[in-house]
Amino acid sequence: MTCKKIAPKSSITPRMLALAVWIAVSVPRLHAIDAGPVPDPKIAAALQQVSTEHVRANIEKLVSFGTRLTLSAQNPASIASGRGIGAAREWIRSEFERYSKDCSGCLEVKTDSFTEGKADRIPQPTQITNVYAVLKGTDPQNDKRIVLVTGHYDSRNSDTFDAQGDAPGANDDASGTAVSLECARVLSKLKFPATIVFLTVAGEEQGLNGSGHFAKMAKEQGWKLEAVLNNDIVGGNKDPEQDAGVVRVFSEGVPAAADEKQLRLIRNLGGESDSPSREVARYIAEVSRIYDPGIKPLLIFRLDRYLRGGDHYSFNQQGFAAIRFTEFRENYTRQHQNIRTENGIEYGDLPKYVDFEYVARVAKLNAATLAALASAPAPPADVKIVTKDLVNDSTLKWSPSAGTTGYEVVWRATSAPEWEHVQSVGNKTEATLDLSKDNVIFGVRAVDNEGHRSLPVVPVPER
Ligand SMILES: [Zn+2]
Repeated sequence: MTCKKIAPKSSITPRMLALAVWIAVSVPRLHAIDAGPVPDPKIAAALQQVSTEHVRANIEKLVSFGTRLTLSAQNPASIASGRGIGAAREWIRSEFERYSKDCSGCLEVKTDSFTEGKADRIPQPTQITNVYAVLKGTDPQNDKRIVLVTGHYDSRNSDTFDAQGDAPGANDDASGTAVSLECARVLSKLKFPATIVFLTVAGEEQGLNGSGHFAKMAKEQGWKLEAVLNNDIVGGNKDPEQDAGVVRVFSEGVPAAADEKQLRLIRNLGGESDSPSREVARYIAEVSRIYDPGIKPLLIFRLDRYLRGGDHYSFNQQGFAAIRFTEFRENYTRQHQNIRTENGIEYGDLPKYVDFEYVARVAKLNAATLAALASAPAPPADVKIVTKDLVNDSTLKWSPSAGTTGYEVVWRATSAPEWEHVQSVGNKTEATLDLSKDNVIFGVRAVDNEGHRSLPVVPVPER
């Protein structure tokens, strides 16, 4: 085993040295976390099907509707003419239906349509329609569990009320819509124990209206939504300053939906960096190491960029784990801009600035994450850490989860961003580790007989 982070020599205390020696002698029963999970060959083969050409064609098709402003036309005449958000919506629906035909109807294609009342950016009541496809899980014990990928198909130009002018929205967010579509096309060829939802929403630019409605519906209907992957601005524009090998993953720290009791626990135990959303972000980092999609996630421990928001927040507000993918470096002359050239600078969100190969790599990372989660057993429930006595070891307990053949305890230093160590504890629901709970953060995850890992669950104290 190799220790991932070694403190500078000057700061090593006798106690740390003792810990290092303990870790060194414990080699046979510990291994570095990277050495754990291996790729599932079915998932690895599916990722090879992600196509830059499909991604490019889908982004160009979405741009061809001229504008996809939520306030733009959606009457039958506009749909027939192929201009406006209604035409875009109908095309997305037909695309999902086409994928479903190719898998003998495996996808249930649905819409979530509602009328949004007048608001700051909605001058009159407006119909908003989310379009989505459901790949139902095949295991009755796991099919209620859901993982979801989303992007917003609406667009805007310099004027958020301009329903007529062009708003190509190639990067923002035809790129994210293309990720949802490509994940649906590729993953619908496989079967998973848990359910995957491929979502495209509208109303993002008017105030997260589509995702807000969808997330509320999921909450009201009691969806067991384990992870939401929001892709917004994943076009990887071709500026020289861009890093085409990196995509940012934004995740909330303290959950937006935490109640007073949960906040107290977070404050007392140092849980600020262990929201369910952040565990999803760490899971994505691990998936990228296992499946090597050609792009590295850069975990940003922050809800979103300064002054910006996105659809993942709608899900966070309803208590769901949700993260946002965004390209490494944004070019603001290409977002929310009328197409024009001013002082030699080209403005406008056009396909020619999008790096389609980059979008395809992001789609691969999304597909790998969705497939890994939908293949995995349910995360262990009721995960507790026993705190009734003052002792220097740590006992963890949990309830069994369906489809599991074993459990692993993961842990990391309180100052470490990612899980550093893992110990397999067999098919038991209790484990005692010779490590002080005061010094590390623990998680417990479920493993099946093919090596799929669930999201880890951080224990709460039990007296
Ligand atoms: Zn956007």
